[in-house]
Amino acid sequence: MKLSRILSNCHNISRKQANALIASGQVIVDGQICTESGRDIARFSRVQINKQVVQAGEEAHYLMLNKPAGYLSATEDDAHTTVMDLIAPELHPGLHIAGRLDRASTGLLILTNDGNWSRRLTEPRIKIPKVYRVTTAEPVSPETAGRFAEGIWFDFEKLTTSPSKLEMLGQHEARVTIYEGRYHQVKRMFHAVGNRVTTLHRESMGAIRLDSGLAPGQYRRLSGEEIRSVQ
Ligand code: URA
Repeated sequence: MKLSRILSNCHNISRKQANALIASGQVIVDGQICTESGRDIARFSRVQINKQVVQAGEEAHYLMLNKPAGYLSATEDDAHTTVMDLIAPELHPGLHIAGRLDRASTGLLILTNDGNWSRRLTEPRIKIPKVYRVTTAEPVSPETAGRFAEGIWFDFEKLTTSPSKLEMLGQHEARVTIYEGRYHQVKRMFHAVGNRVTTLHRESMGAIRLDSGLAPGQYRRLSGEEIRSVQ
């Protein structure tokens, strides 16, 4: 919501008075004077007129979970346990998943209640690299890296995936970097080259790497640097 609107809503002051207060440097957003009446203010920001609090600001949560296999990436489900069962209930309100993993997949799962932030992390146009370690049923053929770099045709969506990278780690093991997050993308890419993914583990999304200190099922809050890495 625009800053001038927050002031006029909460304090029964006119838009004109709100603009005057802002212009005179009496309005503080997250500890800093803000003189832009049109600034978009997140619901997590604290807004004051001098010392008087106008909006306290909700607490934003940014979590990384080491997702174990067998948990659904959903906030609720009637039939299966979900990743929310691993998160303390007091953190649940508004929490959503920024980039799902399939039920059998493991590794880095990010949860937050900040929708603007999670959109920047998952928006395909922004092309944040997502890195997966996969094992496969068949040996990874030498052509696979070239096919992934060219892009794989997905008939259902009628599109070619963005170029992705494949690094061989062993006969049946590879690290794959993709820049989108389409439904079952990595599994479908391997399927398209005649192979089958047997395990899939997400190592990182952009600059956020799964913390090696987290056992499967454990989570921690993201650091300020990790949060700021998503622009
Ligand atoms: N690609 C997949 O196929 N599955 C995932 O869980 C993530 C990416």
